[in-house]
Amino acid sequence: MDMTRLRGIGVSPGIAMGEVLLAKRVVFTSRKEIIADDQVPDEIKRLHQALDRTRADLARVKESVREKMGPDSSLIFEAHLLILEDPTLVGGLEAVIRDEKARAEWALSKANARYEQLFESLTDDYFRQRKSDVSDVLKRVYRNLETKREKEKAPQKQHILVAHELLPSEAALRLSKELTLGVVLDVGGGTSHTAILARSLGIPAVLGLRDVTRQVREGELIIVDGTDGEVIIDPPPAVRREFQAKKEKYENYGRELQKTAKLKSETLDRVRFIPQANIELPEEVDLALSMGAEGIGLFRSEFIYLRRESLPTEEDHFEIYARLARSAHPHPVTIRTLDIGGEKSLPQLNIEKEPNPALGLRAVRFSLRNRDLFRIQLRAILRASAGKNVRILVPMVTEVDEILEVKDIFEDVKKELRRKGEAFDEKIPFGIMIEVPAAAALADVMLKEVDYVSIGTNDLIQYYLAVDRSNEFVSYLFKPFHPAVIRLIRSVIQAARKAEKDVIVCGEMAADTPSAIVLLGFGLRTFSMNPIFIPRIKKALRSVECRTAEKIAEETLKLRSAQEIEEYVTEEILLRHPQVFLTGQPVEAAPKK
Ligand code: PEP
Ligand code: MG
Repeated sequence: MDMTRLRGIGVSPGIAMGEVLLAKRVVFTSRKEIIADDQVPDEIKRLHQALDRTRADLARVKESVREKMGPDSSLIFEAHLLILEDPTLVGGLEAVIRDEKARAEWALSKANARYEQLFESLTDDYFRQRKSDVSDVLKRVYRNLETKREKEKAPQKQHILVAHELLPSEAALRLSKELTLGVVLDVGGGTSHTAILARSLGIPAVLGLRDVTRQVREGELIIVDGTDGEVIIDPPPAVRREFQAKKEKYENYGRELQKTAKLKSETLDRVRFIPQANIELPEEVDLALSMGAEGIGLFRSEFIYLRRESLPTEEDHFEIYARLARSAHPHPVTIRTLDIGGEKSLPQLNIEKEPNPALGLRAVRFSLRNRDLFRIQLRAILRASAGKNVRILVPMVTEVDEILEVKDIFEDVKKELRRKGEAFDEKIPFGIMIEVPAAAALADVMLKEVDYVSIGTNDLIQYYLAVDRSNEFVSYLFKPFHPAVIRLIRSVIQAARKAEKDVIVCGEMAADTPSAIVLLGFGLRTFSMNPIFIPRIKKALRSVECRTAEKIAEETLKLRSAQEIEEYVTEEILLRHPQVFLTGQPVEAAPKK
């Protein structure tokens, strides 16, 4: 077979080469096998035996995931167990067997098709996730109908895992740091469960390849380039050598970056900067610290809600925040209050669909409308602040009155805790996100009411340029270097510096090398980003003089377009500090922290 090159989405960087291990795919039957009247009770019994076996499987998976990854990660299997107990689901399966005189396989296949159709018609992300949960459970039951089923043996040797889709339970069980060299899937994207897991285990992964499972054979040699989102099937020797060299270069670069993680965060002319991490799961703290994060600049707390069937209690919140604070100590942890609404809806509440969700009841607007929920979260954040390394961050503020209202509630919750004798940090820093252009324009006034501000460039750019951040048709207009954008960001940084208050940039812009250098030049010192980008940005900022960055940043203000700015910044950096873009070079010895 000739070499095939496929393009997908690189969701976990690195290069791997190895033999394909094809995960078996459960294909629901399309054949309706009819049984005799008197076989119906036995068939229903057969279904229940499969349900029992599935229950036992899930309890085992739950336990093993809890041991490997902590109690929070195992919650999803609790949800799966609940799906199994759903009387409508089980009753429906029995009814098909009884009424249609059909095999259990047919009943499961029919149920799956019905759920797929139902979930397909909903656009909400959470519900799409629920579809894969229900499907995960139904597939397990289907597999368990075969009593003599050939157990898929646990792999003994290193391999590249190729699958159509990895359901959450499969991803947690199948990905192993030692044996899984790479992961390749037909479906999935950057925020899927598999992607998050692959990144945190450091396994290169390319997802969204559509039909890679049809193009490879078990045992075939395959290359996974998670950095460039490419997969090469059956590469000839010359291509293998090329990728081996790329892999070595990448790994050298990785080792060099890892060394950078331990070096001091300061520019060539000794200006101190602080790299921090944006995370979504408490399990990510260790990875973030090993990458050189000096604290968590953004913890997106909505994931606490999205991982549960019911609303989280104060204790649920507290456990997670306390664990975060403990594992990052003495570094700070910035907990952002719920940023729900927009595309992310709360599954536990029946939130009405809004005609224009990005401009609707989102983030702090939602919290102020649902004060009981808000107070629960605030109480938990405050209680977790007793170790004095927690900061609170309020998303999507538009006007000063919102800040005052939130502060009122916050003070009230503090009083309540004092009354109860609960310990918390009396000086817990209170910050807001600057994500709405109006807040940016009013930053100097808002700064008087808060301890720090965090610029969320993802939303700020979306709202300022009127470009939906997730709409691929207009993504060419989403430009961090748009002259209007950099002027606005500069004005916020300057207002914060004038007010002698901290300012962070926590949008994707902080993770882009030329942008980070311009932000440094504007006076930014704290950069928060996805942990995997920290070493690269740290290395870049350590390779420039702040003085030069200031000159470059000032010059950008004279330019008229994003393209001019981008070209100018890149050329200037290449001219003055070419090592910013160099890979595979030894890191200069710099003073240890
Ligand atoms: C942002 O808007 O830049 C941000 C960091 O928040 P999120 O991406 O979670 O909306
Ligand atoms: Mg945002």
